[in-house]
Amino acid sequence: MRRKYLIAGNWKMYKNRDESREFICELARSFDLVPGLTVAVFPPFVGLAGLRDLDAKIKIGAQNMFYEEKGAFTGEISPSMLQGLVDYVLVGHSERREIFKESDADVNNKVKAALRFDLSPVLCVGETLQERQAGMTEDKLKNQLEKALQDVKKDEMDRIIIAYEPIWAIGTGLNASPAQAQEMHHFIKGVWQEMGGGQDLTILYGGSVKPENGRELLAQDDISGVLVGGASLKVEQFSAIIHHGAQLLDK
Ligand code: PEP
Repeated sequence: MRRKYLIAGNWKMYKNRDESREFICELARSFDLVPGLTVAVFPPFVGLAGLRDLDAKIKIGAQNMFYEEKGAFTGEISPSMLQGLVDYVLVGHSERREIFKESDADVNNKVKAALRFDLSPVLCVGETLQERQAGMTEDKLKNQLEKALQDVKKDEMDRIIIAYEPIWAIGTGLNASPAQAQEMHHFIKGVWQEMGGGQDLTILYGGSVKPENGRELLAQDDISGVLVGGASLKVEQFSAIIHHGAQLLDK
């Protein structure tokens, strides 16, 4: 099977509408697509409208959404509002789970809502440092996957992307070593297949990915892309990671 990479940038609560537009135009000028390479950015909601039309080379995702279609849910954005604006939606990012107290049930509802509205969910899973040190990483990942995918139909599983993001590596400068990331991706693929998912699951690694470590991470067998936070906010850094992906595909 030919290798593919998704290089995705989660901008978190950075970049207003104008900054988002300028960034995308500049980023698009900085790389050429090669077969198998997909590049996506996840800007804040206020910048989303119209971004998809700026450059076909760059796909757009939302960082979150609510699972109801409409109603008295002040401050929330529904999946139907995102239709036509984005291709992907992040679900269950650890900052949503930890700071905004999103439960596994919320995450499950969001995955199902994204699928219902033809958005590709990027489901984030990952362990804390304590869980890793206690030898509970695999239990935690399996549990998060099982809960997030409850009642998801097997034939819809192919539309889901997984992001393995060890919480201790997010925004800390500590990244999982390529071998640690590979081991967990391999484990996740196994769980996925036991649950009825297909062979070619896209699993992104996220957690302090930088130009300096991106190449080695992307070279691992079961890593099919990266979800980049801090380093996706600067064109030259994000573009350097994209170039690593393009060069590996070109080999
Ligand atoms: C993230 O927010 O998903 C992330 C991985 O952040 P960072 O790259 O800054 O660790």
